[in-house]
Amino acid sequence: MFEKTGVATREMVMTKFPPIERINKGPVAVVECYQKIPCNPCQTACPFGAITIGEDINNIPCRDENVCTGCGVCVSKCPGLSIMIVDGSKSPDTVQFRIPYEFLPLPEAGEKVTGLDRAGQPICEAKVIKVMDPPSFDRTPVVTLEVDRKYLYDFRNFRREA
Ligand code: SF4
Ligand code: SF4
Repeated sequence: MFEKTGVATREMVMTKFPPIERINKGPVAVVECYQKIPCNPCQTACPFGAITIGEDINNIPCRDENVCTGCGVCVSKCPGLSIMIVDGSKSPDTVQFRIPYEFLPLPEAGEKVTGLDRAGQPICEAKVIKVMDPPSFDRTPVVTLEVDRKYLYDFRNFRREA
């Protein structure tokens, strides 16, 4: 399935999420890298050593949720746009996501957008909380969005309706 469509199954996705107790404590990285490829900017970018690839650069990265602070440094550094930050500490009803977003024009804080699942299908409404695009992100802006908690494991991207 994944080999044909490139869309991760729920089973695959769940292997990348930390336990809900960790998500509810505060921000943490979800590293959705599923295939062995020669790549390691996530490991080298993390200032806390929370992502390990090891000696073989083809290894799949492993994120330690107990070391990850959710700082978000790794999000814009991944060339595959495979990393997002999830944070369930803000509200019992919603979760916040920080995702890489390379489309223009960028959204604005407060804007309502359409949340998409991993197949690009619309699933919910999402609210833009913040947009970060400093030079250090090297043209990979990072957008923070608030989404209904029931879409925690489904939300992955968004599209503007304007
Ligand atoms: S969010 Fe910060 S601490 Fe966590 S893996 Fe990414 S760079 Fe490391
Ligand atoms: S930088 Fe991104 S694509 Fe490369 S190994 Fe890390 S998570 Fe995977």
